[in-house]
Amino acid sequence: MHGPGRLTVERFPAPEPEPGAAVLRMLYSGICGTDKHTWRGESLQYAGTDHERPVPYPIICGHENVGMIEAIGEGPPPVDELGRPLAVGDRVVPAPNLTCGRCRFCLGEGYPYYLCTALDDYGNSLSSARPPHLFGGWSQHMYLLPGTRLFRVPDGLPSQLAALTEVLAVTHGLDAARSITALGGGFRAGDTVAVIGIGPLGLMHLAKAELLGAGRLIAVDLMGERLGQARGFGADLLLDASATSQAERVAQVRAATGGLGADVVVDCSGVADTFPEALELARPGGTVIEAGAFVDMGAVPINPNRHICTPGLTVLGVGGETLEQYAPSLALLDRHQQRLPFARAITHLVSLDEVASALELAQTGSAMKVLVAPNGEPPS
Ligand SMILES: [Zn+2]
Ligand SMILES: [Zn+2]
Repeated sequence: MHGPGRLTVERFPAPEPEPGAAVLRMLYSGICGTDKHTWRGESLQYAGTDHERPVPYPIICGHENVGMIEAIGEGPPPVDELGRPLAVGDRVVPAPNLTCGRCRFCLGEGYPYYLCTALDDYGNSLSSARPPHLFGGWSQHMYLLPGTRLFRVPDGLPSQLAALTEVLAVTHGLDAARSITALGGGFRAGDTVAVIGIGPLGLMHLAKAELLGAGRLIAVDLMGERLGQARGFGADLLLDASATSQAERVAQVRAATGGLGADVVVDCSGVADTFPEALELARPGGTVIEAGAFVDMGAVPINPNRHICTPGLTVLGVGGETLEQYAPSLALLDRHQQRLPFARAITHLVSLDEVASALELAQTGSAMKVLVAPNGEPPS
């Protein structure tokens, strides 16, 4: 991607991995909401942090990746999440963020790795102008720098489902909410969870809430097709935001919860406008997880008195996935692949030549997760 709306398919020299590095033969790479923003030129990432930055075009996009190790640099091989050496031919999901290991957030305990002040991010922050160029998944091969964390794909998990790992790993806000007990907030078994924005990230939050014991799931979206998908993941109150006002949706959620509101609301819309609604859908003392505003889309008016203080809400900000979530997410996808319709979250497979049209497609209601298959569809 040379700039907003400008994609070409180019050839680069085959990379020789340096010690500690590996070359991945790509199987699948997802098209993410962040990529759609980058395509539209809405490309200020990590706004307000030490590592706020515009996208360093040209880049090879693709950070939701699964591939097969094709080459390993000299010296000790990279290891999986259990410290087992990885070998050529192993299927892995690479973590897309590469941390510095020496800033206050890397050295401190409990910080999500995306707070690193010198973060690199495959598919986003590493320019393809820099050798060996292949720093994104929309490519036949991907270069994995030394220090990249790699997670082994369980043998029984299809590669397409493994491409959902990064998205599922963004649901860590729900795990975090389980440890909150103060002021009536948090997430407990039996709670009502409402999700705003039923794209792939919204679906993964519904799936995670279901697996963590939600008592009821509510879905809000502008598109009827997406609400239909939410039903497959257990949502039974489906609120069409194209046909109702915000006040009507708040009234419907309250009516469904004895007048209270949802215990937990997760905002996955990717736009700023839905955040006030997320606050209003929560019950007094409830918890709101903002998990979709990964790109600066501007400000939105909040009344801190009415929206946050008086109802005593807990607000959790999620800035991406955490490293700790990768192995559990792969295990959940593997174990529950029959029980929850994860495969229906993937609606399209495209070749490298089709990525530009796929980016347009990915913004319509008919598409959920679109996967790029850079080496074509492998025989199953
Ligand atoms: Zn993503
Ligand atoms: Zn760091």
